[in-house]
Amino acid sequence: MGEFELIRNFFQREQAENPAAGVVLGIGDDCAILALPSAQHLAVSVDTLVEGVHFPAGADPELLAERALRTNLSDLAASGATPLWFTLALTLPEVEEDWLRRFSRGLFAAAGEYGCALVGGDTTRGPLTVTVQIMGSVEPQLALRRDGASAGDFVLVTHTLGDGAAALAAIEGRIQPSEAHRDWLHEKFYRPIPRLKESALLQGIASAALDISDGLLADLGHICRASDVGAVIDVASLPFSPAMQALHNIEQARAWALGGGDDYELCFTVPPNAMADVALLIAQGELQATIVGELVPGVGVVCELDGELYQPPQQGYQHFS
Ligand code: ADP
Ligand code: MG
Repeated sequence: MGEFELIRNFFQREQAENPAAGVVLGIGDDCAILALPSAQHLAVSVDTLVEGVHFPAGADPELLAERALRTNLSDLAASGATPLWFTLALTLPEVEEDWLRRFSRGLFAAAGEYGCALVGGDTTRGPLTVTVQIMGSVEPQLALRRDGASAGDFVLVTHTLGDGAAALAAIEGRIQPSEAHRDWLHEKFYRPIPRLKESALLQGIASAALDISDGLLADLGHICRASDVGAVIDVASLPFSPAMQALHNIEQARAWALGGGDDYELCFTVPPNAMADVALLIAQGELQATIVGELVPGVGVVCELDGELYQPPQQGYQHFS
């Protein structure tokens, strides 16, 4: 199968069947031509996954495709953008039809679920590498950025933390959760839910936001640097899933929440005068979020537990025995 047949069979057919909004010219020409909804700004992000670096050799192609697109969608959520389109640059060691069929199935499953259309890409031969570039629209005044926070703002996170690191530990056999918890962690790891609904609710309320991919400490540090503030995290308030609670190791859970990766939850800051709006969203069950700290004058992120400074366990303290 040649390059063009491959593109047609696995990536273009789907598009011909479902023409997408704003796609003036899609796959098959030199450029895609795209029409943004009027008076909206374009939000763009790109991420590359390399075999052996970002995922193990032999990874399930369907899950790999889902994860590649979903983690990119998480970046759109972090910016308050609505998904529209994406491009795919695929480097393959060889053309394996079964692999491509499964990859394409995962890709279009996630694309369909979140309403974003594949509009182009590039296909080359080499070590397995998947690059997704995602595009979305954002209301000019309502983009969520890292540089809008102030001292006195509260720090919140959506859903629960540490699950990404726990999932990896389960996948690698370092912990042995129950079957139900293992399945839940597996799902959360391979098919993270981009927090698009949450981010839409937070527009006009949050002063800053990002998605947590490297652990709360590191990612909140990005907001602090961009906004020129410091932060204090209340370690006792970190939210944990039932799967994490069932580990009965609070120190490990805290280490994973603060320093683990791959959670893809939102961390956002809220000025005191907007906290009533957030509390209402939470009370109405529209938003699942927890206050985990506050911003203070200064630099850097510190952790407190019961009023005392808390030294987060170092990376490497990741073993369970
Ligand atoms: P060019 O030589 O102009 O770069 P290509 O031969 O690389 O064009 O690609 C032909 C068409 O197929 C282009 O429209 C491109 O966007 C699209 N395409 C190539 N690879 C992929 C892919 N993996 N997924 C989706 N579209 C692709
Ligand atoms: Mg090309």
